Amino acid sequence: MRLHEYQARELLARIGIPVTGGGVATTPAEARQLAEQIGAGVVVKAQVFVGGRGKAGGVKLAATPDEAEAVAAQILGMDIKGLTVQKVLVAEAISYQKELYLSAILDRGTKRVVMIASAEGGVEIEEVARTRPEAIVKMAAHPTLGLMDYQARELAFGVGLTDSKQVRQFAQIATGLYRLFATTDASLAEINPLVIRDDGNLQALDSKVLLDDSALFRHPDLEAMRDIAGEPEAEIKARESDITFIKLDGNIGCMVNGAGLAMATMDVVKLYGGEPANFLDIGGGANKDKVKAALQIILADTNVKAVLINIFGGITRVDEVAKGIVAALEDVQTSVPMVARLVGTNEAEGRAILAQSTLIPADSLADGAQKAVAAAQG
Ligand code: GDP
Ligand code: MN
Repeated sequence: MRLHEYQARELLARIGIPVTGGGVATTPAEARQLAEQIGAGVVVKAQVFVGGRGKAGGVKLAATPDEAEAVAAQILGMDIKGLTVQKVLVAEAISYQKELYLSAILDRGTKRVVMIASAEGGVEIEEVARTRPEAIVKMAAHPTLGLMDYQARELAFGVGLTDSKQVRQFAQIATGLYRLFATTDASLAEINPLVIRDDGNLQALDSKVLLDDSALFRHPDLEAMRDIAGEPEAEIKARESDITFIKLDGNIGCMVNGAGLAMATMDVVKLYGGEPANFLDIGGGANKDKVKAALQIILADTNVKAVLINIFGGITRVDEVAKGIVAALEDVQTSVPMVARLVGTNEAEGRAILAQSTLIPADSLADGAQKAVAAAQG
């Protein structure tokens, strides 16, 4: 789950990281009021789930409440990379000398939470990693002790800070960001830019927090921050239907029961030269409603040229799943070819049911993947 900037900065503020004062507005009049309360120049920022808002015209400075109102009127309703701006953050505008980068992320390689810092903030870190990897410093936090003070100071030195006050501030922000990451079960906590103000103090200017959906049950307060309006339709539907779904860039839709089997299915699709359009786990008990929801989610992606259904019937009976697929297909009219590989309990009965349908039967996962790749090629 992704948080808006105005929500992320609220979490930063709670943990003691300095952020600029401000609030969120849904109308130009509210933006004016906030600017009046702030009583200084403000920055008005589109609250949409995309990066690079600045370049897209979604971040603008305003010197007076009048200007804030006018700028908010421009930004509200604006389309940024396919998303309509419904809220703006109005925050005090500050002058600064330098932009830094700081984030906490889970590194699967080392199985640690890794802090990433760079003296080249303000731009996307992927860009820095590509062009100037030496400008990035990393520090793995201790698995149980967390990010220790000496490590946080090392990071500060790594981004070129020498002034003792700035080093101390940076170290406090880094340990705070680590704590935020750990206590919210985040998958990313990022401050970009983290600026050195003209008065020499450090301050977070933009932040991004991604939360691990699988841990959200532990954080009802964070779950309550979810903004459905900003999320893709397919993700909302998947969540409502209790389906694990991750969109990918390929053209072969995959419908699988079980996360491990879904991963294996994607591997085999790739092995035979295909590209999966998604990861989708319908979980146990694939009844008609669930299969229908899964098919709707998969087919909503116009890139999908073929669907591979791979179901292993253990407790789930294959004939029940087959009935579910057939019934769902009556509701979801589609011309996209579908390949089904069903094995397990009551397999023969299941196959008999599918034989009556337009589904292309497959004997094995390898056979199914090859048939799906061929079908996607048309
Ligand atoms: P992003 O483009 O979506 O990453 O949005 P950012 O919040 O990073 O803002 C983009 C740019 O707007 C920053 O890199 C700054 O140049 C500018 N900006 C944002 N807030 C302020 C501010 O308080 N003061 C000044 N001077 N510039 C700001
Ligand atoms: Mn930014």
